Amino acid sequence: MSAVQSITVLGSTGSIGVSSLDVVAQHPNRYKIFALTANQRIDVLLAQCKQFVPQFAVVADVNAAEKFAQMLQQAGLATEVLSGVDGLEFVAAHQSVDTVMAAIVGFAGLAPTLAAVNAGKKILLANKEALVCAGHLFVQAVQKSGATLLPIDSEHNAIFQCLPYGKSLQDAGVNRLILTASGGPFRHASLEEMRAVTPQQACAHPNWSMGQKISVDSATMMNKGLELIEACRLFNAPGNRIGVVVHPQSIVHSMVEYVDGSTLAQLGCPDMRTPIAYGLAWPERIDAGVQRLNFASAMQLEFFPPDEVRFPALRLAREALQKEGSAPAVLNAANEVAVAAFLAEQLPFTGIVEVVERVLCALADLPVAPDIAALIAIDSKARARAECEVASYG
Ligand code: NAD
Ligand code: MG
Repeated sequence: MSAVQSITVLGSTGSIGVSSLDVVAQHPNRYKIFALTANQRIDVLLAQCKQFVPQFAVVADVNAAEKFAQMLQQAGLATEVLSGVDGLEFVAAHQSVDTVMAAIVGFAGLAPTLAAVNAGKKILLANKEALVCAGHLFVQAVQKSGATLLPIDSEHNAIFQCLPYGKSLQDAGVNRLILTASGGPFRHASLEEMRAVTPQQACAHPNWSMGQKISVDSATMMNKGLELIEACRLFNAPGNRIGVVVHPQSIVHSMVEYVDGSTLAQLGCPDMRTPIAYGLAWPERIDAGVQRLNFASAMQLEFFPPDEVRFPALRLAREALQKEGSAPAVLNAANEVAVAAFLAEQLPFTGIVEVVERVLCALADLPVAPDIAALIAIDSKARARAECEVASYG
């Protein structure tokens, strides 16, 4: 790896993308930006290109890409514009790139993230949906190419920090992994109240500022369900060795319980720049520019068991995990469709998990996808089924 790391940020205009660029900007002698990518927010992308002057900018949306190329020209920037999935894959796998921040939201992030994996890059994985869907195919691709996969999701990053590197859980003497969950904005809401929740309320997370989709996932706790599956894949752990505990303060980001009764936890203010900085600098550490915990002032850390009656998403994710096959990919696809429908005010908040459950029931026995093409077909099938469930919901 060269002295200055060359970085592609997939999804640079999103919440994680912006936080990543913030950390990169604090360390100009360690990192330089090779490529930035966006879907449609070309105004934000333009400002980022002016600041970081990347070699490439990719706009996934082809029409927006044309307009963006004109904007860059007017601004007098030499950054080259690419578009579509091909463009994303190109900048993820390019030989000049050392590190790829995978921060596109949803299944759309799978192809470019896999391109980075296949090219053997260091991948900072924020896009949990890619790993949830592709599961073993993803892990096999990492093993085959020798790519370095570092988790950025705060819980998995915390667990990664609490584990010895390169050892299996058994060799390390791990008994359980414990994911913490904030419980989201509706921790105390009744089912009745949850039926009337608006997109704006669902996106107002008490502790974290995040993109819309993951904010809604946090509110339904499907985010924790996805993270449960993510943890199984990342750490090669069976589902029954992963616990979930509600911790409303979001200070303890997750824990590892060892066989001798020790539990190691990673703590910090809820700010994604910490796991991002950890991933960028690993195995070293750099300043992330975040606020420090202040133990001199009173601080409460509370822990509660999750309520799977009001938040059935966690149960569904466990069921999907047990079924193996393609159930995790079906769960994810149905959830993406249902969340989009909720955000478009076509489905009530409580309908999200109901739609996911119906789709999971209907497509329970799809076999495991032998390759990515088969996985994409399964994703499409689950999406189509979810669209039908949304249309007939009521
Ligand atoms: P976001 O909605 O703020 O940003 C998403 C990014 O993906 C944007 O840059 C957008 O342009 C791009 N994008 C969306 N659809 C695309 C498409 N079809 N093709 C190409 N690019 C597309 O989302 P976020 O909150 O930054 O989350 C990104 C990922 O990181 C998600 O998978 C999320 O689960 C994960 N994550 C986020 C946080 C957080 O604090 N935000 C924490 C942990 C994990
Ligand atoms: Mg998380």
